[in-house]
Amino acid sequence: MGTNYVFQEFDTVELAKKYGTPLYVLSEDILRDKCREVRETFLKVYPNTQAVYASKAFLTKAMCKIIEREGLGLDVVSGGELFTAREAAFPMERVIFHGNNKSFEELEMAIDFGVGRIVVDHQEEIPMIESLAKEKGKVVHCLFRITPSIEGKTHKYIMTGQKDSKFGIPLEIETLKELVEKVQKSSMLSLRGFHFHIGSQLFENHIYEGAIEIIGKLAKELKTNQGMVLEELNVGGGFGIQYRGDEKTKPLSFFTEVIMHSVERIFKEFTLPIPKIIIEPGRWIVGEAGITLYTIGAIKEIPGVRTYASVDGGFPDNPRPALYGAKYDGIIANKAEKEKTYRATIAGKCCESGDILIWDLPVPKLTAGDILAVKNTGAYNYSMANNYNKIPKPAVVLISGDQSNIIVKRETYEDLLRGEALPKHLQGKV
Ligand SMILES: *Cc1c(COP(=O)(O)O)cnc(C)c1O
Repeated sequence: MGTNYVFQEFDTVELAKKYGTPLYVLSEDILRDKCREVRETFLKVYPNTQAVYASKAFLTKAMCKIIEREGLGLDVVSGGELFTAREAAFPMERVIFHGNNKSFEELEMAIDFGVGRIVVDHQEEIPMIESLAKEKGKVVHCLFRITPSIEGKTHKYIMTGQKDSKFGIPLEIETLKELVEKVQKSSMLSLRGFHFHIGSQLFENHIYEGAIEIIGKLAKELKTNQGMVLEELNVGGGFGIQYRGDEKTKPLSFFTEVIMHSVERIFKEFTLPIPKIIIEPGRWIVGEAGITLYTIGAIKEIPGVRTYASVDGGFPDNPRPALYGAKYDGIIANKAEKEKTYRATIAGKCCESGDILIWDLPVPKLTAGDILAVKNTGAYNYSMANNYNKIPKPAVVLISGDQSNIIVKRETYEDLLRGEALPKHLQGKV
């Protein structure tokens, strides 16, 4: 202990020794604190609200259990996420099923499992859902995902609310009127309201106000002409976190206060009843609950240029820096209190020059075998992990109080080959 980097009272160097590296470490206490904040500053303050965790940020059976016990719902976007929730016995009425290209099989699965809401992302989904609902004799509760034609200030790969988007039904009043009528005529579909999701890693709150204004106008028009009552409005997620520096992540209320005030003001203005408001935070819940531990190997000093320190993971366990230039902060865990008089660029071990985790990180003098802790890796790291270069995925360890437990085993080389087969003509000796 002493000079090592401590995360939630765990000596990270000890964790690295015990479980090996690379290693994802997830703090149950931080997760539960985040969920408590959702309850105390949102669910309890505003009646008729719901919070749904966007599971694509990080999903395992253990995560489902924590989310369930904290009273939140789950947003899923694929058969695999849905299956994980079912295997964890997650209450299906709290599940919202999204996706811009749900297959017939996935929709059937969702209806068989009895998910709470299916979010219709394009118009051809309506007949698919309707025929399945008829076949199963189950009424399906839907939301329409509307593209509000609003641009969140974020990387274009995680911007979703703009008009030119693969997500959602474009804001075209005539089309929407038709779709609403179609659903109203169906005895098997129940249209509960609308959904929008502006983007991810957003730091502005007034952008939600703009989207709510647009939805309010739409709701008014559909009320007047189609008699549709907007019972629910799902405003998506996207609440940003701080990955680096001293600035703290904004409390949830920074976003939800503006959202709730806007809803109240705008719906009153349009003389519409206040709908139930649903939020879908992903990154905000899990991002800061995780760190990743690596062992530093090759250290390459290019005089007058820079020093590269390579770690035993990289792009396969965290593709975000390569994908959208995501920035992370790190610390040399076994030299946590040493002065940072050098700079090192932390490189992954993949055969890609773009496999750089952190550029020019201030560090003390490095030696092979040092342990690097990369902070705030809880969201979109494990869930985006891949096996490029046939590198096995790291284990995930959940720390809870003073306990640590593996919730996902480290992959083995055998795991990597599990799905492979040799056709007959390639078997045997040449
Ligand atoms: C990704 C996503 C979220 C969560 O986004 P975060 O930025 O992680 O909060 C919520 N809703 C939908 C529909 C999403 O696609």
